[in-house]
Amino acid sequence: MNKSIFTAPKSLDELKTALSKKTHNTYIVAGGTDLAVGMNKNKIYDFSLIDITKIKELKKIEYKDDLIEIGSCVRMVDLEDNEIINKYVPSLSKAASCIGSTQIRNLATIGGNIANAAQCADTVAVLFAFDAEVEIINSIGEIRKELVYDVIQGIGQTTLKDDEVIIKVIVKGQEANEYSSFSKIGARKTVTISKINACIKLALNDNKITDSRVYIGSIGVKAVRSLLIENALNNKVFNEELKEKILELGSKQVLDSIPKRKSKDYKKIAVKGILDDIFCDIEKRRNLDE
Ligand SMILES: Cc1cc2nc3c(=O)[nH]c(=O)nc-3n(C[C@H](O)[C@H](O)[C@H](O)COP(=O)(O)OP(=O)(O)OC[C@H]3O[C@@H](n4cnc5c(N)ncnc54)[C@H](O)[C@@H]3O)c2cc1C
Repeated sequence: MNKSIFTAPKSLDELKTALSKKTHNTYIVAGGTDLAVGMNKNKIYDFSLIDITKIKELKKIEYKDDLIEIGSCVRMVDLEDNEIINKYVPSLSKAASCIGSTQIRNLATIGGNIANAAQCADTVAVLFAFDAEVEIINSIGEIRKELVYDVIQGIGQTTLKDDEVIIKVIVKGQEANEYSSFSKIGARKTVTISKINACIKLALNDNKITDSRVYIGSIGVKAVRSLLIENALNNKVFNEELKEKILELGSKQVLDSIPKRKSKDYKKIAVKGILDDIFCDIEKRRNLDE
C-alpha cells in the first residue's frame, strides 16, 4: 500500500516543522527534474515529499548591500530574464539559458542544481567563479552559510545534512570593470546536459587583465579551477594572441585533469570551442561598454 505523504510548507517556520518530521524516505522537492529521474531509476515507490516551492521568500531575487540574493527556488527561466542577474552576474543568466529545454528551465531551480551536485551542473561553474555562498536552514531553524564550492563534495555528494535545506544563494555581483561569461557543449542541440562547460570571470584595467577566475566543469568530480589558465591570463593584455594561448592551455588542463578518461580526446578539442565562445562574448560585452 502506498503511504506517501505530501507536505508543502508556505513559510520557513512551516518548513522547519516539516523538516523536524522528516524520515529516511522523505525527499525535498523543488522542480523535481532531477528527483523524479533519480526515483524512477532507483525504483523508489514508497516515499514522502516536502515541496519547498510554495515558500514565497525562496522565489525572490534581490539586490541588497552590494550582494545579490537568489532564493533557492528561483527557476532557470527566472535567472535568464532577470535585470539584476543580467547586469551583475551575466554568466549566470547565460548558464541558466543553456539548461535542458524550455520545459526543464520552467521547473529546474538553482537550489536543486546545487544540491543535486552533478559534475556537469551548469550554474555551479559560474557560482564557483563568483565565490558564491548558500544559506542553509535546519529543522530547529538554525541558519548557516557555506561556499557553494565547499557544499559540493563530489558527484551527488554535499555537506547538506538530512534535515537541511538551501534557502538562498548569495553572490557578489561583478564590478563595472569586470566581465564574465559561460559556455558549454552538450551531446545534442537541445536538452543538452553538458559534456563540458566553463565560466571565466575577468577584471580589466585599460585592457590589462588584473584578476581572473576560471572553472571548467565535467573534467572532475566538480568544476575544476584552472590555475594554469588564470596564471596565463593575469597581467596580460586581453587580445587575440592571448586567446589562442588560452585555447591551447584549455586542452592541457583537460589532459592534466582526466588523463585516463576516454572522453579526454573529445574534451581537449571541445574545450577550445567553449573558451573561444567565452572570449568572444567578453569581447562583445566590452565593446558595448566602450
Ligand atoms: C531532460 C533534462 C535535461 C537537463 N539538462 C540540464 C542541463 O543542461 N544543465 C544542468 O545543469 N542540469 C540539467 N538537468 C538537471 C536538472 O534539471 C537541474 O539539476 C535542476 O537545476 C535541478 O533542480 P530541481 O529544482 O528540478 O531539483 P529537484 O529535482 O527538485 O531536486 C534535486 C535534488 O536536490 C534536492 N534539493 C532540491 N532543492 C533543494 C534545496 N533548496 N535544498 C536542499 N536540497 C534540495 C532534492 O531533494 C534532490 O535530491 C537536466 C535534467 C533533465 C531531466
